[in-house]
Amino acid sequence: MRARDCKIVATMGPASDPPERLAMLIQAGVDCFRLNFSHGGREDHARRMQAIREAEAKAGAAVGVFADLQGPKIRVGMFKDGEIKLRFGEIVTLEASNEPGEAGLIRLPHPELVNSLEAGDILKLDDGKLQITVTEVGRTQLKARVDFGGVLKNQKGVNVPTRRIPISALTEKDREDLAYALDLGVDYIALSFVQHPEDVREARALIGDRAGIISKIEKPSALTQIEEIVELSDAVMVARGDLGVELPPEQVPIAQRKIIRAARAAGRPVIVATHMLESMVEAATPTRAEASDVATAVYQGADAVMLSAESAVGRHPQSAVAIMDRIIRAVEEDEEYWASLPRDMTPPQATTADAIALSARHIADTLGAASIVAYTSTGSTALRVARERPRCGVVGLTPIRETARKLALVWGVRTVVVDDATDVEDMVAKADVAVRKLGIAETGDRVAVIAGIPFGRPGKTNTIRVFRVE
Ligand code: PGA
Ligand code: MN
Repeated sequence: MRARDCKIVATMGPASDPPERLAMLIQAGVDCFRLNFSHGGREDHARRMQAIREAEAKAGAAVGVFADLQGPKIRVGMFKDGEIKLRFGEIVTLEASNEPGEAGLIRLPHPELVNSLEAGDILKLDDGKLQITVTEVGRTQLKARVDFGGVLKNQKGVNVPTRRIPISALTEKDREDLAYALDLGVDYIALSFVQHPEDVREARALIGDRAGIISKIEKPSALTQIEEIVELSDAVMVARGDLGVELPPEQVPIAQRKIIRAARAAGRPVIVATHMLESMVEAATPTRAEASDVATAVYQGADAVMLSAESAVGRHPQSAVAIMDRIIRAVEEDEEYWASLPRDMTPPQATTADAIALSARHIADTLGAASIVAYTSTGSTALRVARERPRCGVVGLTPIRETARKLALVWGVRTVVVDDATDVEDMVAKADVAVRKLGIAETGDRVAVIAGIPFGRPGKTNTIRVFRVE
């Protein structure tokens, strides 16, 4: 089967835990998994990480994993019965406490928020599905009126668009989770609620080069400095769940387009996330609007599309992956997709690596080459080629397994872990083996290889060679 260029991220959760499920999800098309540190305990993440690595070894292809830190997300506490009902017009009590709430009483384990609220403040609950407005502020309790009711479950998110809450980008829990996730050996750390470039710098100081950083764009303030945030990050996520609570819904598609353009211009992978196939949490098939939404992200040139609840707690995780795979493939078979991709392209940087990446695409297009093979140790060379969105895709050859895993998130890149080439003949020989192993090229096909000579030194891409597969 032809390789798919846009990648699929699936969130781990109880629905992806049963034995053999992971193998089936990878088989269905998952390239990268998300461990969501907003839910589950440490042991869950450790167990899942181990299961992914075992399934990866069996599948024989690099699988990426990222730890998604909760960030300063405000959540309601637990409820004695797991959930309560909120009815339109009802007055409920709010209280800062770690104890479970009950009917008519919502407890929030966030005294800093509760203390800052005033009458008239709006609390959007569960991604804005429910809304209450503060009516009365008491000494230890507040009263609020239900504007839109429904079922409120344990630990659902709270957004307060009317107020800026004084909470730092990495909470105490995030710092502990971060250290834990790095020990697990995740490939990326996703930072939630990034507001300023400074948030990314702060995380980088803690993470160093032990993992990549995915900045989740879900605050309006991040949009105003998007170029700098993208530049400082290894990848970004269009986190439409919280973004769509903080911004009016009609602004979300515009923000999505803006974030994808900024990421593509900088050559950073971009993930479009949340609600992509939401109805499949219950239903066996997606709505037409959902299929169209996934396709739109692909047409816009996103590197990856993500499943959240669909794969974490949904009834049809495997079908959701399979359907995403089919939607992506359908777009990638459309000539209009290939005609439109270059329209959003920005010129390369004035670097040897970018000049070579662009030339490799021209060579591949001119010759109808079967592949562009990039020797890459940090992944950067493969990223610069992927930025050109070459129709034949990219094969990254790397001696570093972690690099291959990081590249699992990147548009059009497939990887093979091999030792560095020793000389030009070896460079061609290893590329030849790799493209045949991946089933990308047959005898007589032409392939463009790019590498840095002398071999084995990162950051020195300076050579293109074209060869015919033997
Ligand atoms: P979350 O992030 O699922 O961790 O909230 C994604 C989003 O907000 O869209
Ligand atoms: Mn979010």
